[in-house]
Amino acid sequence: NREIQLVRRPSGIPVPEDFRIVTTPISVLKDGEVLIKNSWMSVDPYMRGRMLDRKSYIEPFALNETLSGGAVGQVMESSNPKFPVGSKVANMNGWREYFTTEGSDLQPLPETEIPDQAFLGVLGMPGMTAFTGLTKVARIKEGDTVFVSAASGAVGAIVCQIAKLKGCFVVGSVGSEEKAQYLKTELGIDAVVNYKTTENLQESISQACPQGIDVYFENVGGEHLEAVLNLMNDYGRIAVCGMIDQYNVTSPKAGPTNLSQIIIKKLTIQGFIIFDHWNEYPAFVTQMTQWIQQGKITAKETVYEGIEQATEAFIGLFTGKNIGKMLVKLS
Ligand code: NDP
Repeated sequence: NREIQLVRRPSGIPVPEDFRIVTTPISVLKDGEVLIKNSWMSVDPYMRGRMLDRKSYIEPFALNETLSGGAVGQVMESSNPKFPVGSKVANMNGWREYFTTEGSDLQPLPETEIPDQAFLGVLGMPGMTAFTGLTKVARIKEGDTVFVSAASGAVGAIVCQIAKLKGCFVVGSVGSEEKAQYLKTELGIDAVVNYKTTENLQESISQACPQGIDVYFENVGGEHLEAVLNLMNDYGRIAVCGMIDQYNVTSPKAGPTNLSQIIIKKLTIQGFIIFDHWNEYPAFVTQMTQWIQQGKITAKETVYEGIEQATEAFIGLFTGKNIGKMLVKLS
């Protein structure tokens, strides 16, 4: 069994030396326990926040201990009748290949034709974040202009598609031409801005959103937020999901200098943490499964192979290596 531990709190974008891989024996099964072999694990931007020693909505990771995060796996041995050998489960014990548990931390995967790893992406936490942020936090309506940052990622690409399904005019920003092409040709969104090549971000977003912006799905913060505040329509809504542009700063960056736009435009700005909405997860899975089966929502994945690639996959989130959900397939 191999596991990944944090050995140093990263400064700036994490580097491989912040982590180590350790090999441990697989625990012997106790009465009532099951042995799980993880087949897929998730790397997510929020894990960067947990690498800092600070108070937040979730405990920081401890140094020299194995990291944790979303994973899906299969029961290999069982002395718990609730989880027979061969059954598949979602769990929060990622960053390791095997673990034993009495089972209270396992969620059985529903029987579906959809591949298991979708429960880490479109049918899991990122998909649920996109759905809740748009429908409950930002309360989108047909005809809204919706602007999405980090638009080709795990959350962003689902936001784009749900907003299109709901009859919105959808514009995204991304960091590469390949991502822009994906959003335009495969997902059919209305316009895309490449924030890395544009000379004037606000001007480019403005041109792409001729009717102004009614809803901003915020994944990035910083310069994006400043530009969008100037382009919001009256009574616009901003669902603040993430601020990835800030996660690796080593000294505080100046915030938007135009917060008075909140008053002038009478904006509603609401942050949210998806775990607070988890009681609605079953209803979300029903709806999203239907959309996937009807071909209305598709989900791309970027896959790194082997636990030894997990830290590279994680670091890649901050350098834009993924289109769609970033995943690690465990051997
Ligand atoms: P993504 O799949 O979107 O991966 C991250 C992407 O962000 C990269 O591919 C990159 O794409 C972009 N990015 C990285 N650094 C920057 C930067 N400095 N400026 C602009 N873009 C950048 O990740 P997720 O979909 O999992 O997460 C998206 C956001 O949602 C994150 O901010 C995350 O923290 C947040 N989140 C919040 C949740 C909540 O409960 N509030 C739950 C889940 C996610 P590109 O090439 O386009 O730059």
